Amino acid sequence: LKYNEELTKRKKLYNQVQEAKGNIRVFCRCRPLSKQEMSAGYKDVVDFEGARDGDLAILAGGSLKKIFKFDRVYTPNDDQVDVFADASPLVVSVLDGFNVCIFAYGQTGTGKTFTMEGPAHNRGVNYRTVEQLFEIARERSEMVSYDICVSVLEVYNEQLRDLLAASPSSKKLEIKQGSEGSHHVPGIVEAKVESLSEVWNVLQAGSSARAVGSNNVNEHSSRSHCMLCITVKARNLLSGECTRSKLWLVDLAGSERLAKTDAQGDRLKEAQNINKSLSALGDVISALASKSSHIPYRNSKLTHLLQDSLGGDSKTLMFVQISPSENDLGETLSSLNFATRVRGVELGPVRKQV
Ligand code: ADP
Repeated sequence: LKYNEELTKRKKLYNQVQEAKGNIRVFCRCRPLSKQEMSAGYKDVVDFEGARDGDLAILAGGSLKKIFKFDRVYTPNDDQVDVFADASPLVVSVLDGFNVCIFAYGQTGTGKTFTMEGPAHNRGVNYRTVEQLFEIARERSEMVSYDICVSVLEVYNEQLRDLLAASPSSKKLEIKQGSEGSHHVPGIVEAKVESLSEVWNVLQAGSSARAVGSNNVNEHSSRSHCMLCITVKARNLLSGECTRSKLWLVDLAGSERLAKTDAQGDRLKEAQNINKSLSALGDVISALASKSSHIPYRNSKLTHLLQDSLGGDSKTLMFVQISPSENDLGETLSSLNFATRVRGVELGPVRKQV
């Protein structure tokens, strides 16, 4: 009973906070300058002086070019623990029955995979999320019984691949809408998991399947969206009430524009498909942020898949990943502008002199 009261109170509080702030958060994370960039003599163009207040300043030729505002700004010194501390309230809300979508956006090489997956010795959001899901589920085990299932999908050239299927490429997958209105992919493998190590095995299986059939794994992963879906079914042992919620953890394809010289054949098709899905994602989120009456989910497989977890009372967190190097300035500005549009709040022109 106490748990039910607690949950009702918390939902009320969530709703008040959401009403005040909206359901979309954008966190900006900048990776360190790499050794190669340092030895090539590239300068750092990011100023973190206002980072605590969510301000990020971009410099060009030594003077201020533009200030961006985000819900959080991480400097290259902030680690995986700092980043997860801000993302973890969303994990709690998944267990309370909300749908959540966390994704990383940015140019290839800016740390999307580092933030979401992370190296084995310094794991990122995906692992920490699942770890926390199990931890809270255990704490609540006398009151709620949770079933947790994991699916791993890839979207490449507007086609879905089930990375947990025995032969991922041979299966034709479509997105369907169920009678209760939720979206699902019939036939997709949903692995029931009961421990962190089981999840880890599932993720490893997904990663190896991703590599199959591509000559260059890194190139392939930078051109496809890798999507982890965690479904949580909760049964309240006291009231018998059941809820079902979905958490998407998405490592998006690289947002970089294709060089004109590369614009032909398969590369052109890939680039057009990436462009299409990333702009569809931007359109959907900014339509949500501006409370538009039509939300164009159907314009790409990515947004169609995420439909239940973008909008309504679901919560969205976007990491915009950037490089600090002057060499990447054009792409950095384009990512920051995209993220600003997504956040739905434009800052005026430069308001601070450096
Ligand atoms: P992406 O997924 O965007 O292509 P990666 O995650 O592969 O980028 O990161 C590119 C390189 O930068 C990797 O070597 C990664 O270890 C390093 N890197 C990214 N972010 C950080 C960070 N915050 N701290 C240290 N190294 C980072």
